[in-house]
Amino acid sequence: MDNIKELCSRPYFELEDIVTLLSLQDPQEIEVLSKSAEVRLLQERGNAVYFRGLVEFSNICTCDCYYCGIRKSNTGVQRYLLQKEQIVEAARWCAQQGYGSIVLQSGERRDESFIDFVEDVVRSIKEATRSPGLPLGLGITLCVGEQNAEAYKRFFRAGAHRYLLRIETTSADLFSQLHPKTQSFSSRKQCLDLLKKIGFLVGTGVMIGLPGQTVEDLARDILFFRDLDIDMIGMGPYIVHPETPLSACKGEQVRCTDEVFLLSLKMIAVTRLVLRNVNIAATTALQAIKGDGREQGLLFGANVIMPQLTPEEFRKEYLLYEGKPCLDENAEQCKSCLSRRVASTGRVIAYDAWGDRRVV
Ligand code: SAH
Repeated sequence: MDNIKELCSRPYFELEDIVTLLSLQDPQEIEVLSKSAEVRLLQERGNAVYFRGLVEFSNICTCDCYYCGIRKSNTGVQRYLLQKEQIVEAARWCAQQGYGSIVLQSGERRDESFIDFVEDVVRSIKEATRSPGLPLGLGITLCVGEQNAEAYKRFFRAGAHRYLLRIETTSADLFSQLHPKTQSFSSRKQCLDLLKKIGFLVGTGVMIGLPGQTVEDLARDILFFRDLDIDMIGMGPYIVHPETPLSACKGEQVRCTDEVFLLSLKMIAVTRLVLRNVNIAATTALQAIKGDGREQGLLFGANVIMPQLTPEEFRKEYLLYEGKPCLDENAEQCKSCLSRRVASTGRVIAYDAWGDRRVV
């Protein structure tokens, strides 16, 4: 036990240290890991939990990722794009609740009208949400995939100051097995570099428990986050969606759900220990596997939660994976459910705050 404690308190981690921690199976040792992560979190970021209201504003997608339920080849999905006013309304509600930030997520499109639309929405949200409590309006995070430098610059100038783009996996081999040839690991990486250069706070992350993914791959993912000096992490379990090519994967390449869930919690804890001052989300996918998944994420060192703000009638069309929770709950119910969940972990929700890791 003491050696695990010692390992967790290292100032610097080598690949093999990370592999050891991710491989822990003994419940008491796992408890040491989660407690150490919590202590590190409290030291580095305090006991605040930050909310980022999530609006999945469109499921129209030009990509064909083999794991994703809204991939363009899935013809069973009814495609939608919210109207600008619907998104701005959700943003106003978000600001009124005191959630300091909003995340605008969608499928991937690179056409001019989409870029114009996103830019316009960002500007309008900024104007609509300024208040004495939030003089600069809501913090806006975009999650609209790979774009060119010009588009990223326009989004930044319009007032979005954070961008989430998951690398999905840092194993280039695995990446190529999960995506068609038109999507590449190197172009995803270039986008992350570009976003940093432009000035965004940059978030990335991976899926955990992908068929064929090893613990060593995951350890390298954490080193990748550290090397890039990433500001925010959003990662969660891979969950099968039946209408995708990857759902055909069976046999020993596929881990059981309990194992993937635990591995996801360990990834959060070890990322906290290695990166220290970083924002880590307890993602919805954790809750899709276990009812209290997001609370457990908080207990393993996460400090961000993304309450669902997508209008209810569209949520069922934004199914990235099977069993997505909160499909029939309105934003108000979601709010009270989340405050209960956060309180149960002994942490405190920070209202009216952007909660960035550093000032941009
Ligand atoms: N198109 C946008 C965001 C939409 S998808 C982008 O590229 O950033 C958001 C994230 O959902 C993806 O990055 C992926 O990591 C995750 N995701 C997709 N399918 C999933 C699945 N089957 N299980 C778990 N996570 C999934």
